Amino acid sequence: MACSPTDLHFVLLPLMAQGHLIPMVDMARILSQQGATVTIITTPVNANRFKPTIDRAIEAKLKIQVLELRLPLTEVGLPEGCENFDLLPTAAQAFNMYAAMSMLEKPVENVLLNLCPPPSCIISDGGFPWTANMAKRLNIPRLVFYGPGCFTFLCVHIVTHTNILNEINSNSEYFVIPGLPDRIEITKPQAATWGKGESEESTKIFEQILEAEKASSGIVVNSFDELETKYVKMFAMAKDKRVWCIGPVSLCNTSFQDIAERGNQAAINGHDCLKWLDTQEPVSVVYVCLGSLSYATTEQTIELGLGLELSNIPFIWFIRQTSDEFEGWLLEDGYEERIKGRGLLVRGWAPQILILSHQSIGGFVTHCGWNSILEGVSAGIPMITWPQFADQFLNERFITDILKIGVKIGMEVPVLFTERDKCNDLVKKEDVLTAVESLMNNGEEGEGRRKRAKEFSIMAKKAMEEGGSSHVNMKLMMDFIAQELAKNTKLIQDIV
Ligand code: UDP
Repeated sequence: MACSPTDLHFVLLPLMAQGHLIPMVDMARILSQQGATVTIITTPVNANRFKPTIDRAIEAKLKIQVLELRLPLTEVGLPEGCENFDLLPTAAQAFNMYAAMSMLEKPVENVLLNLCPPPSCIISDGGFPWTANMAKRLNIPRLVFYGPGCFTFLCVHIVTHTNILNEINSNSEYFVIPGLPDRIEITKPQAATWGKGESEESTKIFEQILEAEKASSGIVVNSFDELETKYVKMFAMAKDKRVWCIGPVSLCNTSFQDIAERGNQAAINGHDCLKWLDTQEPVSVVYVCLGSLSYATTEQTIELGLGLELSNIPFIWFIRQTSDEFEGWLLEDGYEERIKGRGLLVRGWAPQILILSHQSIGGFVTHCGWNSILEGVSAGIPMITWPQFADQFLNERFITDILKIGVKIGMEVPVLFTERDKCNDLVKKEDVLTAVESLMNNGEEGEGRRKRAKEFSIMAKKAMEEGGSSHVNMKLMMDFIAQELAKNTKLIQDIV
């Protein structure tokens, strides 16, 4: 890569999970489109997932490079090659993954010391708290990126910085999150499966993350001001930090290839799905995809399938990982034969933003990962919310209770990510049927949700356009880093 010492050079360090990696790759593209040099540091398996995307960006003369580091997996008892949370043999090994990630400090620092132009800023995933001290040693600002939006983070901040959870005695009792402009009711496990309180190990990691955040120069959020105006301000005030909403970052993908291959170069050929979707009526199909990490037992998967079938509404259903047990049931039951024409079951990675933007899609069954939610919002599609763990219950409340563009499937009891193969709360086929019918109905309520979803989609697109709020915020963030760089350069000149 050409080396000019005056370039703004952002180093991006994404967490090894699709929901963090994908938006950071988008962020890299946006930064470089606005003139910055960008280096993404990741591991070989992860780099390979978005290699064609980066190659195309380089061909288009964007200044992006990817540097690969070995993740010390065998040192923490994990198999070689298991470089992403979605490749862990069991979810309980997530902490081994964190241990391996914490061993990257020296190798990352060595990379940064040898970069040209020298790094002006590190945008670190919150999951790498050690980047705070590293940034201090290198005298560069550290910005932090977590994934979810401001509303969810503000809720996490409130429940972890007040005594509210200690005042709730039962796990099934709903309480109102104090201090919010909207009435948000939640149970203790729904509010606390993320961060502090999940387990001793996760509490320790969460505290390190918060400590590192204090030492950071700001927080970069994949959201947009118009989506959660009040919450952006409240979140920045609660954290006493600069907050830049720069999304929805997925909207930076404009070519068919970038859209179809986003997140996984091995994504099924977008054309195959499109051909089927093209045969369906406009706004008639429900798209079902539960993210990159969620898990459903065979019993749960069957209930979902039967519920979709009962609804008589067209659907396209992606299953990330099938199982022998489920395949056996499919064969024996003749499910795929019965749904032929009206339903399509696809095994593998969904080209999600390609599907969501197809005119036939009228609803989205989502596990409420923040990226999926924003992608649904960007496409103007109302959603059925099926949260499981982490931030997903709070994200659900945002969609159903604040934006009012979603219908709850009725999940009550969360699972811990590390125990996600346990099923605490079976969603029955009748629940699926009720939710799908309610979402797709053309009555006043359904139309209202659809209309609001369309309005947010227009706002999302405007935010990302030249002069839109996220476009401006990205510029402001880059200006801030340029000023910090100038200050540091002057300081060094004064010393010399
Ligand atoms: N995704 C996709 N195809 C899939 C599953 C997921 O493209 O089959 C993408 C999705 O578009 C989103 C990301 O993977 O950008 C998942 O992030 P999210 O925050 O929604 O959920 P997570 O997987 O982190 O729980």
